[in-house]
Amino acid sequence: MKIGVVEKPGVLKIADRDVPKVTNPDDVLIKVKRVGICGSDIHIYHGKNPFATYPRVWGHEFVGEVVEIGSVVNGIQKGAHVVVEPIIYCGKCYACRQGRGNICETLKVMGVHIDGGCQEYIVVPAANVHVLPTPLSWDEAVLIEPFTIGAQAVYRGNVLPGDFVLVMGAGTIGLTALQMAKLAGATVIVTDLVPAKLDYAKSRGADFTINAKDEDLTARVREITGGMGPNVTIDAVCIKTSFEQAVEITSAAGRVVELSFNEIKSEIAPVNIIKKELTICGSRLQTKRFPVVIDCLKQGKIPLEGFITKIYPIADMVEAFDFVDKNNASVRKVVISFD
Ligand code: MN
Repeated sequence: MKIGVVEKPGVLKIADRDVPKVTNPDDVLIKVKRVGICGSDIHIYHGKNPFATYPRVWGHEFVGEVVEIGSVVNGIQKGAHVVVEPIIYCGKCYACRQGRGNICETLKVMGVHIDGGCQEYIVVPAANVHVLPTPLSWDEAVLIEPFTIGAQAVYRGNVLPGDFVLVMGAGTIGLTALQMAKLAGATVIVTDLVPAKLDYAKSRGADFTINAKDEDLTARVREITGGMGPNVTIDAVCIKTSFEQAVEITSAAGRVVELSFNEIKSEIAPVNIIKKELTICGSRLQTKRFPVVIDCLKQGKIPLEGFITKIYPIADMVEAFDFVDKNNASVRKVVISFD
């Protein structure tokens, strides 16, 4: 079978490997249909993901058809269309005991720490599999994982109906956060520097968009929120100053949700946190968001038109990565197809 593998930083190839077998009784074998390319996959390709080890079959956003099931697997039939939750956790450490396997002490993410979904067939634990509702196409289903990241940011920020939410950055993650915040009943403001991205955000339900290049973000946000500031700010820009600005701009009793893996230090005065009693939280991967997103999609609540920028056959995988690299400002999601 064909696999897409980053052999070492900078070297991405299609290689051959034997089809894996179900050996654990609670595993399933999946014929992969689609794999989404994430910003983090590009980082793995370029050797800029601190968690990745090599060689690595990339891909944590993938869907496919179950072709074999282990002897003790329940509730999943051969032929089922599924999405795979790409995280493996111990279930025993402190974080896991709080129901937060996404930050497990021994967390393993498929496509990062262990081999991922860019292979024709993959064996995964049945516990990591979510069966898709019938009407969902592969091209829709491959977007479930990215939407769980936005859903997690909204969940971590405890977005409540009637809240003002500021989403900083209208890239893929910012857009998923926008759509999930709208579903939570918030009024959503989206900021970016690229007009086309803001136009798309508007078409996805953003109540207000602000181009921070042309307008004073703080002043405009204050105006929209009646002087209060957003109740929740989701930082999907992820640079030194965006985190600083998020703390500055967020309302009293507000929440700042940070999505950055940046190692560069921001400068934040504690008084800005304490005087407003801000809650500042990280949002990493997701916990229990797959059923939430799947249910929203099933009910047709998440419009996905235009979300996929381009689909490449597996044979053109390297070209697909180059396309994402060269069109970073305009790409929403590029997908590899195994059909
Ligand atoms: Mn991703």
